[in-house]
Amino acid sequence: MRGDVSAKSAGTRAVILDGKAIAGRLAQEISRDIAALRSTPMLAILSFATPASEVYRKAQREQAQALGIQTREHACPMSATQADVERIIQGWNADAAIHGMFVHQPMPPGVDPQRISAAIDPRKDIEGIHPQNSARRFFAKARIGSCTALAVMRLIEETGAALEGKDAVVVGHSEIVGRPVSMLLLDKLATTTVCHVGTDKAGRLEEHVRRADILVVAAGRPQLIKGAWIKPGAIVIDVGINVVGGRVVGDVEFEAAKTRAGFITPVPGGVGPVTVMMVMKNTVEAFKLQQVVG
Ligand code: NAP
Repeated sequence: MRGDVSAKSAGTRAVILDGKAIAGRLAQEISRDIAALRSTPMLAILSFATPASEVYRKAQREQAQALGIQTREHACPMSATQADVERIIQGWNADAAIHGMFVHQPMPPGVDPQRISAAIDPRKDIEGIHPQNSARRFFAKARIGSCTALAVMRLIEETGAALEGKDAVVVGHSEIVGRPVSMLLLDKLATTTVCHVGTDKAGRLEEHVRRADILVVAAGRPQLIKGAWIKPGAIVIDVGINVVGGRVVGDVEFEAAKTRAGFITPVPGGVGPVTVMMVMKNTVEAFKLQQVVG
């Protein structure tokens, strides 16, 4: 799937970036990687007792098993304290059989996600959230990146577009999505603008979105981005996951946006499946890192 970002005019339909198909190709790459390893990587998953977390942990376990990655799992009650959660992580840090750790959100009230990120051994931090890994990303030297940000970049890569000199606009500046994506776009020499709640309050979101050759939206606000704002031919990556009237929708008005965009991700079936696979890829990368540096 290759194309020029600026080659499309309004009125034709966008190419839909099929996250499930891309995740399938990634799975093949990961399986090949695992087959070449000396032993089996192990992913440890820490979840908290919410229905969504249970479903997600099961999905991660099944995905890992399908690829040949072992899992260790622990489900904490929502009454768990900071000390309880850190104790589990420290045990996993010290366990040489565990190569990667994934800690679900939301965490129990009173547990500080930033302190939890810092408690994880940076070599086992497959979400790229430990301060050391965030600092490495800042200097374009990341060994393990944020799963969602890597998924966004993989989807953009699938379009075949060259990013250098293009206008990239990221809506949302969270630590796990907006900021890491912006850094990766900068690394590709895209002229990168980061929009957030301040941009919206100032009434300037539309003006920024209208000039985006590459638009990444991670705000968690259903239909925040109007289809009419999309620059003809743009690459639109919708990270948002919102449940509206029992239906999962993104942050972009998909139906209207796809008549203008060159490429667009659907929700569901776009960024989500690729992100899940990046968790597995990062587990393998963490395994390799631990073989090299002990
Ligand atoms: P988050 O931590 O809540 O961050 C949302 C960001 O959007 C914040 O930076 C916020 O700015 C900004 N924002 C909120 N309202 C806005 C508005 N009206 N205009 C402009 N910016 C606005 O969420 P997140 O973890 O980054 O996730 C974002 C969305 O992606 C959520 O829907 C989440 O479920 C989804 N997600 C999907 C995947 C996937 O694999 N598909 C992975 C991770 C997250 P302020 O901080 O200034 O308020």
